Amino acid sequence: MVIIKSKQDLINLRKANRIVGETLQVLKKNTTEGITTIELDRIAESYIRKKGGKPAFKGYSGFPATLCISINDEVVHGIPGSRKIKKGDIVSIDVGAFINGFFGDAAITVGVGEVGPEAEKLMRVTKESLYAAIKKMRSGRRLAEVSLAVQKHAEANGFSVVRDFVGHGIGMDLHEDPQIPNFHSPQSHNPRLKEGMVFAIEPMVNAGTHEVKVLKDGWTAVTLDKSLSAHFEHTVAVTSGEPWILSDPDEKYDSLPS
Ligand code: MG
Repeated sequence: MVIIKSKQDLINLRKANRIVGETLQVLKKNTTEGITTIELDRIAESYIRKKGGKPAFKGYSGFPATLCISINDEVVHGIPGSRKIKKGDIVSIDVGAFINGFFGDAAITVGVGEVGPEAEKLMRVTKESLYAAIKKMRSGRRLAEVSLAVQKHAEANGFSVVRDFVGHGIGMDLHEDPQIPNFHSPQSHNPRLKEGMVFAIEPMVNAGTHEVKVLKDGWTAVTLDKSLSAHFEHTVAVTSGEPWILSDPDEKYDSLPS
């Protein structure tokens, strides 16, 4: 069942997601050659706590950190540690925050210094596919249109879309119904979108095969063919008009415009 959020719920969701969006802005500036992923994790945790929130991923199903940091051929759920960021890396950073009973969730991929043309294109296309999906988040449309928008754009550019991980509803739980595949999935729940639905849309796009495997740490997913992978995510509310990108810190509204 897809939970419809009230106006007050949306205000709280915006609060949690604004913290997430701002945290990513801070991290983007700090993702430079030589910094370790655990240092980025500490920066994120202290920012979230300073804003009155709590890291949402830490302790979730036993995940040990505030951030998932996934570099190059890593797709999602990389665990921060002593690894140093290198020039030419593409670094996917996923962050979640919790405040006032609600969750925020968003991700970006950052290129460090000069990255190759394929990496540059992969990041651009993945971000574009996220925004193509967001455009479809209008009352009355079907969820499958959102999924298909990602797949079409990624594949038209010669890339593939990960099947094993999907977007999700979000609210008082980090992962709510429905699941939001980034590809056409006829067996998936395909509700009509309604005002008050809130989804975390998160395309994971690979330069090579769509297939991934999880490493022995039980978390880190990597591409099977070691090709590069990028990940962009926003939490977005369906309104009576334009989609409201709750995790965009530059989004002008903190409550529904009346
Ligand atoms: Mg998510």
